[in-house]
Parts: sequence; structure tokens; C-alpha cells
Amino acid sequence: MLKHTSKLPNIGTTIFTVMSRLAHQHRAINLSQGFPNFTSDPRLAELVTKAIQEGYNQYAPMQGIYSLREVISEKIENLYGKKYHPETEVTVTAGATQAIYTIISTFIRPGDEVVIFEPAYDCYEPAIMVNGGVPVHIQMRGKGFVVDWEEVSAKITPRTKMMVVNTPHNPSGRIFSREDMTRLEAVLEGTDIMLLSDEVYEHIVFDGEPHQSVSRFPDLSERAFVCASFGKTFHNTGWKMGYCVAPKPLMQEFQKTHQFNVFCANHPMQRAFAEYLRTPSHYLELPNFFQQKRDLFLECIKDSKFKAAPSKGTYFQLLDYSGITNESDVAFAKELCVSHKIASIPVSVFNSDNEDNKLLRFCFAKKDETLEEAAEILKGL
Ligand code: PMP
Ligand code: GLN
Repeated sequence: MLKHTSKLPNIGTTIFTVMSRLAHQHRAINLSQGFPNFTSDPRLAELVTKAIQEGYNQYAPMQGIYSLREVISEKIENLYGKKYHPETEVTVTAGATQAIYTIISTFIRPGDEVVIFEPAYDCYEPAIMVNGGVPVHIQMRGKGFVVDWEEVSAKITPRTKMMVVNTPHNPSGRIFSREDMTRLEAVLEGTDIMLLSDEVYEHIVFDGEPHQSVSRFPDLSERAFVCASFGKTFHNTGWKMGYCVAPKPLMQEFQKTHQFNVFCANHPMQRAFAEYLRTPSHYLELPNFFQQKRDLFLECIKDSKFKAAPSKGTYFQLLDYSGITNESDVAFAKELCVSHKIASIPVSVFNSDNEDNKLLRFCFAKKDETLEEAAEILKGL
């Protein structure tokens, strides 16, 4: 047997694979891994088919096709007032995960510290560690997942190289306020800390709140990569398409790695998105669409023993089950799936110390009838 030592000895299989597999095995309603169970706009599939038939079946340019980079740049400028040059400051990626991994591996050297906020989406930490970086955790506190900006300042050291922020936030459904962004600016002022802003849910923000993109804040955007996912925005997570934007010197460095990491993202799909993004209603109608689903789900479970503070963004809703049992969230999630046929995600897996606040995450990017069926089960507990 070949001897090797793992670079990631403490990393197991991602919870999304674990829970989706369990849901499948037990024929449970799968509200765990975040993906819709309805189809995306048939127009998008038509556009991809057209691109394939027209012969766009070979490599795209390494950075992405220009027409797509151009429409991404226009979209960001219209929404957030920041101009990223399509020639030098936009790269199309194979989903946000690839963008995030490539950013971290391009800039993080052994011993560099990277600040992440917990509960943290699970792809940041392994990417930091495999590159020899040191994750520095900041726990968002209480039911509101509040960031203590004093603590953030206190945890910054001369070795801090990067900070990862995520708004709207997975798994909590909280969003950064303008005040958070101002505090973030103050914390980073005068430092050379890079910002990685994971904004894959930028178009899924509720109750009329604006999305506080890092792109809106010049003091932040000058040091930041902003990452986006077409999978999240256009209901086709399996297509693995996304992009990132950053100021030219950072993007130049990113592309040195990107070109040898994937070289380029899927070409026919780039053609399709370049056309589809020309109609802003395709993403501007998302808050309403998903808010109705959130509200339907919450209405249907209002007489259950679960407690909920409505999600402010993303397509995830946390439910507090402390009125039902004292079990750990991991044990309860498993029991719900195996015995009650409904799969969710236990939030403690996103905390490095496994802090357990008796919260489960449910994905409401589902057909209304699926949400109603799921709610029936939850009401019976
Ligand atoms: N960041 C967050 C917070 C996510 O929830 C996800 C899952 N979509 C990603 C990144 C990865 O996005 P993609 O599927 O485009 O790789
Ligand atoms: N982002 C999705 C979620 O939070 C999962 C993506 C994945 O399976 N890696 O559920």
C-alpha cells in the first residue's frame, strides 16, 4: 500500500453529500442540500442547445467570453454603481466554489491567517488549510448571528492575509446591514488584508432590504474579490457556472492560477448566459419569488413546535427545535430523515467547535407542494 500523509486529516465528506445520500436512501423529502426541485426557465436550456448547435463546443477564452463578461460588468454597475472592466476585471468560473478555491490558493501561503465567520459555509476552511493557511474563526453570536466587530479587530494580526465574508449568509439567512459594512471598512482600513466576498445569494434578499454588496463600497472593493453563482441565481446548480470580479492587479494574479486550474468554464452555457442576462427581470424577480416560498413554508409550520425567525436572505430557513427535544442537531437531523422522512442540515457542522444551538437548516427552493408536504411532517412532531 502506498504511504501518504493527508493534507486534510480532519476533513470528512461534506454534509451536503452525507445528507442528500441519507435522504435518497430513506426516500425522505430532501430539504437539506441547497438546490431547487423545479426546473429553470426553458429559455435558458434553449439558448444552451442553440449554442451547441451553432458549434460553440470548443474551449472558450480563458477569462470567459467577452459578451458575458461585458453583461456581468453592466449588471454590477447598474445594481451597485461600481464599474469592473470586462477586459481585465471579470473572470467566468466553473461555479463559485472554483472561484473561491482559486482565490485562496492564489494568495494564501503557509502560515497566512484567514478570518472566517462561523457558522461558515464549508468550502472555505479546507481551501485555506490545503494551502497551508490558518483559519481564524469568529463566531456570530445569538439567534441574530450578530458580528462582534470589536472581536474582529482584536483577532487581526500582522499575519492576517484575507477575510472571507458571506452575505446573504448560508446557513443562517442573515444579511449584512450598511452598518456592518461600515464597521468592516473601519476594521480593514490601513491594512493590506484582502477580502473574499461570497455573494452567491445576492439576488435572494427579502422584505425590501437592499443587498449590501462589497462592490458598493470603494474602500472595500479595492481590496476584494466578489464571487457569484449562476447556479444559485438561475436554478441550475448542476451547471456549475459562476464568476468573480476584482480590481485588475488582483484579477491578473487570479488568472495565473485559473488558467491552470480549469483553463475555462463551459462554453455553450456562457453563450446562453450572455444572452439571458440581458433581461434584468430574470434576476430582479427572484426576491419576490423566493419570499413567497419562505412565507408559505413559515405559514404552514406556524402551528408546529418549531420556532423560526424569518430568513432575511438565501433560500434557507433555520428552525429551532429546542421545544421538541434536547438531542444534538446532528442526531436530530438524522432521526428526522430516517424516521420522519424529511432531510435537513444540522447547523453545528458549520462551527469549528461544533457549538450546537438546536438549529436545523431547511431549503425552501422547492415546489409549493413539496413545502406543504414537508410542513405536514414537521407539524406532526
Ligand atoms: N458559497 C455559498 C455560500 C454557497 O451556498 C454555495 C452553494 N451554491 C457556493 C458558495 C458554491 O456555489 P457554486 O454551486 O456556484 O459552486
Ligand atoms: N450550497 C449548497 C448548500 O448550502 C450546497 C452545495 C454543495 O453541495 N456543495 O446546501
